[in-house]
Amino acid sequence: MANPTELDAVVVGAGFAGLHALYRLRELGFRTRVVEAGKGVGGAWFWNKYPGARCDSPSMSYSYSFSPELEQEWEWTEKYPTQPEVLRYLDHVADRFDLRKDITFNARVTSAVYNEKAKRWVVNTDTGASFDVQYLITAAGCISAPKMLEEPGVERFRGRSYYTGQWPDEEVDFTNLRVAVIGTGSSGVQAIPMIAQQAARLTVFQRTPTFSLPAMNCPLTDDEIAHTKANYAAFRKVQRNSVFGDEPPEMPTKSALEASDEERLARYEAGWAKGGLVHLMMAYTDIMTNKAANDTLADFVRSKIQSIVTNPTTAESLSPRSYALGTKRCTVDTNYYATFNSPHVHLVDLRKTPLLEITENGIRTSETEYEVDAIVYATGYDATTGALTRIDIRGRNGVTLKEKWASGARTYLGVAVAGFPNMFTITGPLSPSVLSNVVVSIEQHVEWICECVRFLRESGVEEIEAEAEAEDEWVEHARFVAECTLFPDTASPYTGGNVPGKARGLLPYAGGVGAYRQKCDDVASKGYEGFRLISATSSR
Ligand code: NAP
Repeated sequence: MANPTELDAVVVGAGFAGLHALYRLRELGFRTRVVEAGKGVGGAWFWNKYPGARCDSPSMSYSYSFSPELEQEWEWTEKYPTQPEVLRYLDHVADRFDLRKDITFNARVTSAVYNEKAKRWVVNTDTGASFDVQYLITAAGCISAPKMLEEPGVERFRGRSYYTGQWPDEEVDFTNLRVAVIGTGSSGVQAIPMIAQQAARLTVFQRTPTFSLPAMNCPLTDDEIAHTKANYAAFRKVQRNSVFGDEPPEMPTKSALEASDEERLARYEAGWAKGGLVHLMMAYTDIMTNKAANDTLADFVRSKIQSIVTNPTTAESLSPRSYALGTKRCTVDTNYYATFNSPHVHLVDLRKTPLLEITENGIRTSETEYEVDAIVYATGYDATTGALTRIDIRGRNGVTLKEKWASGARTYLGVAVAGFPNMFTITGPLSPSVLSNVVVSIEQHVEWICECVRFLRESGVEEIEAEAEAEDEWVEHARFVAECTLFPDTASPYTGGNVPGKARGLLPYAGGVGAYRQKCDDVASKGYEGFRLISATSSR
C-alpha cells in the first residue's frame, strides 16, 4: 500500500459544511483535502433528488454568509428553494472558490486511526487513498446514513425500488405505474404529492402521521431580493443570535395559555396563511416546552387536516395524536393533505394493519398484499451519529467512536469528543444542528473550528482534546435543557428512537443557536476552557 499523503487536515464530506471548511482552512494556509463519497458536491442535497425535494428554510437565509460577494451575486428564485436550485448554488460555490481541486470524489472514508505518539490521524478510504493529517474534521452530515426498512423481503421485490436519499440521477417516470411510498416524514410528505401527479395508483404506507404545515411557497419578488440583499449584514446578525437560526418578524412574548381562544385562533390562522415553520412554532413562547400549550397548536393543525381531507377515516388516520407537535420534525408541504382526496391515492394505516414484509410483487400487511410496480422508501436516517459511527474511527487506546457512543452520544459542545484528540465534528451531536437552520449552525462551527486550529498553530500546540469532565458537564447540561422541552418523550430521529437498538437521548442541543454560540465563544476566549492543549514543550 502507498504511503499516506501528508497534509494538515482531512474533511469528511463535501456538503455545505465540508465546502465551507475547505474554503476557510485553505484561506488559513492549512493543506486540506476533502473526501466525498458522491461524484459531486452537495452532500444531502446531492443525494436527495427525489421528486418534490425542497428546503423548508427560506432560500435567502439557508445560504452562506461568509462571502458578501456571493450573497450579492447569487439570485434565488423561490422562497423555499428546490433541491436542484440548492445543488446549483453549491456547484456555483465550488466553482467560484475553485474548491474542487482539493476534493477527492467517489471515495468513502472507511477508517480513521489516531496515532497517539505522532499526535496525528491516518485516514483511509475505500479507493485505497489514505492521508496522514494533524486534524480530522467531520462534515459528514446529519442525514446521510440511510435507515432502511426493518421488515424482511426488500431484496425480493421484482419491481422498481427507490430510496429517497439515494435517488438516481436520471429522471424517474411513474406514469401508468402502481406506486407505493413507505414513510411520511419530510421526504415522504414532499414526494407524495409529486408522485401522485404521475402514478396511475399511489398507495401510501404510514406508520406515524406527521404534523405538516403549508409552505405557501412562491417566487421571490425583485423587491424582496433587493431588500434582503441591502440588509444582509443585519439579517445575518439576527440569524446568528436567534433560537432556530430563523426568526419570525415578531418574537413571541407570552404563553399560548395566556391568550384567549379567539386571540390564539387568529394568531394560528395568520401563521398558517403565511406558511413555513417559524410563524406557528414560535407563535408563543412555550409551544415546545409545555404540553398544554403545544396541544393548542396540535389541535389547530388537526382541525386543518380534518377540514382539508374529505374522507373522515383518512383524515383521522392522518391526524397525529401520539406525540407532541414538533417533537418529530414538523414537515412543510405543498398539497400534502389534499393529495389524499384524489381517487387514485390511498392511505394504509400501518398502526391498524402492520407491514409484515416486502414480497416479489409488492407489500404485505396483516390484512392483505398490495401489488405494485414501484416502491419508494422514504424511511429516513440513522440521524446525526450514523454517518460517524459507520466509519471505523479509533481514538486513544484504539477505542472506537461507536463504542464510545454505544450508550448515548457524548461530546463537548458537539464539536469535540474526549478520547479523540485533534478531531472536530461539524454539527456533531449535542450542538444545535438539526434543531436549527443548519447552514447557520454549520457556519458557526466552521468559524469556531478554524479559529481554534489557527490559534493552536500560532501557539505551537500539537494536540487538543476535550477534557472528560468538561464533556460530562456539557452532556449533563444538554440533557437538562432537553428535559425542559417536550422532545425527549418522543421516539424520533431527534432522540435516536427511530433506529432499533440505538441509545435514546436528544441528539441536537435544544438551548438555541444564539446561546450556544455565546458558550462556544466564551470557551475560546478563555483559552479553550475545557480542552487539554499539548505543545511540544509544555502541556496544560
Ligand atoms: P424521517 O423523518 O425519519 O421519516 C421516515 C418515515 O419513514 C417516518 O414516517 C417513519 O415512520 C417511516 N418509517 C421508517 N421505518 C419504517 C418502517 N419499517 N415501516 C413503516 N414506516 C417506516 O425521514 P425523512 O422524511 O427522510 O426526513 C429525515 C430528515 O431529513 C428530516 O428530519 C429533515 O431534517 C430532513 N429533511 C428536510 C427536508 C426539508 O428541508 N424540507 C426535506 C426532507 C428531509 P415512524 O415515524 O413511525 O418511524
